Amino acid sequence: MTDVLSRREFLVSTAGGLAASATLGIPHPMRPPRPLPPTPRWAARPVIVASGNGLRAVQRAFELIMQGTDPLDAVVEGVKIQELDPNDDSVGYGGLPNADGVVQLDASCMHGPTKRAGAVGALENIKTPSEVAKLVLKYTNHVFLVGEGAKRFALSYGFEEEDLLTERSRQKWLRWRANRNPKDDYLDVPETEQMVVRPTGTINCEAVTPNGAIASVTTTSGLAWKIPGRVGDSPIIGAGQYCDNDVGAAGSTGRGESNIKVCGGFLTVEHMRRGMKPTDACLETLTRVVAMTEARLLNERGRPKFGLEFYAVNKRGEFGCASLYAGEDFAVHDGTAARLVDAAHLYDEPEPA
Ligand code: ASP
Repeated sequence: MTDVLSRREFLVSTAGGLAASATLGIPHPMRPPRPLPPTPRWAARPVIVASGNGLRAVQRAFELIMQGTDPLDAVVEGVKIQELDPNDDSVGYGGLPNADGVVQLDASCMHGPTKRAGAVGALENIKTPSEVAKLVLKYTNHVFLVGEGAKRFALSYGFEEEDLLTERSRQKWLRWRANRNPKDDYLDVPETEQMVVRPTGTINCEAVTPNGAIASVTTTSGLAWKIPGRVGDSPIIGAGQYCDNDVGAAGSTGRGESNIKVCGGFLTVEHMRRGMKPTDACLETLTRVVAMTEARLLNERGRPKFGLEFYAVNKRGEFGCASLYAGEDFAVHDGTAARLVDAAHLYDEPEPA
């Protein structure tokens, strides 16, 4: 890893020299290569990055990677805090249900060093889909299990079947159903008692260990009140997250359908492969999202009517995040403390309501 970076740095620094040598007909190399820098203690700057709801996740995952834990195990342990939290209604247990009142969870993960991937979609009654995605990655010849099969797979590994609705998320669903259609037979709940119509949320978490191993995971209960069976971007390898141990990792939160169409996780990693810094790579992917947005989802100024964020880390441990609209933040731990950092944005205004 150190050698690779150093050679790359060397090539970049001598690119001008090479061109000049070719023009003057002087055989290359004119000078012996720069000596390699002394071997650093770490191959990369260790870092954990997560979406803004992931402060506890980055704290936990950073502690783990510094104890030598595998980066995938570390990020899954991190996001599990959110999955198991009944008060987070966008992930795992307590997540808001689909239109039928059933919680269906999506998750995916990738492990850079072994080049493996695993995912589950529309998984019911299991609190921690990130762990099930990791089991798919680790123990099967497949990448993606969905629905009933994914549940049976989880049960075979000893997971317990549980009701994922909390009293809180059930009440939110009942109110949504009551107010869905003023002409149906459910009496509307008074405005003052109404909850946000369509909250979204997800957690993406990415790790770079001191020896340059990379992993990523994304887990969600998806869009609240979705059509049963709907699978978002989170469990789609290359959309909800993507990881290439030679380059970096990227993941996303926000309107999944818009991410799926640009394969945003993959695209962001590809931008980094071509030399972009993580933040620039995220912004570039968002530009593609806007270009691929259908007219019905654009406002009068040609801007998306939804929110979307990308998070990225590269092989060196550099990190970044960008959102379509201003006002978003993301969680980072790179050695000092777990903290929230302002995300870059494409549009200098808050996300439309
Ligand atoms: N990306 C998630 C999905 O579309 C939702 C979210 O992040 O808010 O399922």
